[in-house]
Amino acid sequence: MRNEGLGSWPARRARKTPRRTALLHHGPDPRAVSYAGLHDRSTRLAHVLHAHGVRRGDRVAYLGPNHPAFLEALFATGILGAVFVPLNFRLTAPEVAYQLADSGARALLHPPSHGAVAAEAAAAAAGAAPVRLPAGDAAYEDLLAAAAGDPLDEPVALDDTALLVYTSGTTGRPKGAVLTHGNLTWNAVNVLIDHDLAADEVALVSAPLFHIAGLNMLALPVLLKGGTCVVTGAFDPGGTLDLVERHRVTFLFGVPAMYDRIVRHPRWDDADLSSLRLLTCGGSPVPAPLIAACQRRGLTLLQGYGMTEAAPGTLFLDAEHATAKAGSAGVPHFFSDVRVARPDLTPVDVGETGEVLVRGPHVMPGYWGLPEESAAAFADGWFRSGDAARVDADGYVTIVDRLKDVIISGGENIYPAEVENALLAHPDVVECAVIGVPDDKWGEVGRAVVVAREGAVLDPDEVLAALSGRLAPYKIPKSVVTVAELPRTASGKLLKARVRSRHGTPDDRSPR
Ligand code: ATP
Repeated sequence: MRNEGLGSWPARRARKTPRRTALLHHGPDPRAVSYAGLHDRSTRLAHVLHAHGVRRGDRVAYLGPNHPAFLEALFATGILGAVFVPLNFRLTAPEVAYQLADSGARALLHPPSHGAVAAEAAAAAAGAAPVRLPAGDAAYEDLLAAAAGDPLDEPVALDDTALLVYTSGTTGRPKGAVLTHGNLTWNAVNVLIDHDLAADEVALVSAPLFHIAGLNMLALPVLLKGGTCVVTGAFDPGGTLDLVERHRVTFLFGVPAMYDRIVRHPRWDDADLSSLRLLTCGGSPVPAPLIAACQRRGLTLLQGYGMTEAAPGTLFLDAEHATAKAGSAGVPHFFSDVRVARPDLTPVDVGETGEVLVRGPHVMPGYWGLPEESAAAFADGWFRSGDAARVDADGYVTIVDRLKDVIISGGENIYPAEVENALLAHPDVVECAVIGVPDDKWGEVGRAVVVAREGAVLDPDEVLAALSGRLAPYKIPKSVVTVAELPRTASGKLLKARVRSRHGTPDDRSPR
């Protein structure tokens, strides 16, 4: 095959395991797609895209919840050597318009549920409006049925661009991370090696596919290996437990906020979880009570650390070391290198805090159309993650926090994640975010923004008093604000910048 990229995977799989189930759609029209079917359907869709003018290097966007059509569109785009642009389906029309215009998308696929947003966004996108195509509905099926099915074999190299993924935007305007076929392939290989994926893996794909972690820590490695992806459009904790039982799911992946809702569900204690052998988690710090709740059911929650720019897997704590090194995010994936460095890029000593730098064949070449930001993101060939971490004597890395979230109080660095973990030990605190607020005396002091357990009334003084003895006095927040919920991204990540803008002024507080 002349296609070395992602677009060739269905054909390669169809050659080896044509009859195995690749995709099982859990939705209003449940259906199974074999590997031969995936090859056929993505080839037909590639013909459809080609007929609408999509050529090598052109961008093809997708706006919609998880559905097999998402993965078919990804492979179809790869077959043509074009670039897939997954969009967050919760974005508003102006936000979608920005990403369509920034990427210069030639086509936009979407299900009927996103017709209004897609139409408004496509009309507003500066430059040539993308052609809109159906996804996952009857019109989509009609297009596939009418399309040619003869194989296409475009030359695609591992260095060619496969994906443009907009970073989740927790720190400002989204930037498009350029990921090559090689980046995605090496990440998937790292997952196969470090997760010990089996050919009979059944993965529940409920984490959003438009985020690189749902796509490349879960769906793509499973499809590379020939396993089955049960694709479901909406995450729901009780539904997750039902699907695990019904499909004998072996592999779950989610961000901590998703797992948190699963382990709090009343069915958690008695659901049949005997098929599960791999529970992985990443994207934000993993709270200790979550690990304990999984352990109660005899399951080890494995923590990974990564970022969009690294496609995304970077560090992983395997089951063998999960207990001994609990709290750490592990060591680099097999084909990845990490250095925790001082500002002059020299490695830190054991116990010292520095920035996580990443290098390897899974790291992006740069941001789309942003040469200055791309240059600034690298130092001496290392990608600068912007995260603070420590390393122990065995090389295990513990993520401390985002460098930009660090609170500097009276010259001391406070890492909010450490304080948040201590707050979560309080039985009535279910979620929290610690931010810095200006202070005349200390420059900045910590503030805890907390969500109380349903029915509980939090006493700020008592919440803070519970921290003394656990944390040094300077780390203990000086005020507590109770809120009904915290702002999060579609994937469940905390939007710290939004918490800061809402609750970061000195007068918004419950005094100690
Ligand atoms: P933006 O780039 O817009 O700020 P983002 O940083 O959330 O958004 P992602 O690529 O989705 O972009 O997430 C990567 C970040 O998530 C990492 O840099 C790190 O801060 C955080 N993260 C990922 N895994 C972990 C983990 N296991 N523990 C702590 N933090 C994590």
